[in-house]
Amino acid sequence: MACCDELAAVEFLEKQRWGNDPTCVYCGSTNVYQMKDASTEKRNHRFLWRCHDCKKQYTVRIGTVYEESRIPLRHWCYAFWRAATSKKGVAALEIKRQCQISYKSALFLMNRIRFAMAPDIQVAQKLNGTVECDETYVGGKPRYKGNNPRGRGTDKTPVFAAVERNGQIRRQVVANVNGRTLKTAIRETVSPTARIITDDYLAYRGIGAEYAGGHDSVCHSTREYVRGDIHTNTVESSFALMKRGIMGIYHNVSHEYLHRYLWQFDFIWNNRRMNDGERIETAVKSAEGKRLMYKPPKTRGNGSAVVSA
Ligand SMILES: [Zn+2]
Repeated sequence: MACCDELAAVEFLEKQRWGNDPTCVYCGSTNVYQMKDASTEKRNHRFLWRCHDCKKQYTVRIGTVYEESRIPLRHWCYAFWRAATSKKGVAALEIKRQCQISYKSALFLMNRIRFAMAPDIQVAQKLNGTVECDETYVGGKPRYKGNNPRGRGTDKTPVFAAVERNGQIRRQVVANVNGRTLKTAIRETVSPTARIITDDYLAYRGIGAEYAGGHDSVCHSTREYVRGDIHTNTVESSFALMKRGIMGIYHNVSHEYLHRYLWQFDFIWNNRRMNDGERIETAVKSAEGKRLMYKPPKTRGNGSAVVSA
């Protein structure tokens, strides 16, 4: 990607955002022009645009996740490229080294990019078809080894996932793994017309009554893993990939921030059929309009992450 210099990065982001019709970020007019430096006749050193209609000046940063930073856009481009193409994720430390910026800046950048990758809950459709649901634990160290098959009594963070066979995934941090919490998570992410598949964990019992496709389960407690097309292999491999990424790159992710990493892992999974270039474009496009939504970490009453960072 041509982001070795600032002008190339700016033009790349302008192209992603506006295509061939540069648009005023304030009034939507396309009656706009690039400002030039009087002495050199070249593009203004701040890459400003001006609108003939509302007379305001702006840059491509306005209204995006990069608006409130002075970090050069070529570093944003590099970080977008890394975050959108690495299956195992990318650490802020690596961005710090590659871009030669402070760790604080690298962290700021990666957090905004992960936020850009978060699903847009206004438009995100519920999962449908055959949907595997499961829960797991991430991070921390189990206090009681051996006798805690569901992580009870540990400081690990429970994560719930629903995955369409051959389709999309939705992972979320949950407060606990009791029936009420997990069923709520299923209702929030899976369409009532779907068919649910889980293991035989008691918390999922009874959910089939709410789903047109019913509920099938494999009996992991008796070592049954596949019965016909009934299995949870897809969701389990998604957890394995996520854990390898978190262990390998991030070492330890606190409970408070885990949801941000889930956004990134879900983004990679949900766009896995795109090539790298398409995935970068999708990530960059999703940065638009997210700036105002960026808020301090928050969780819902049940502990699941709301879409704020
Ligand atoms: Zn305007």
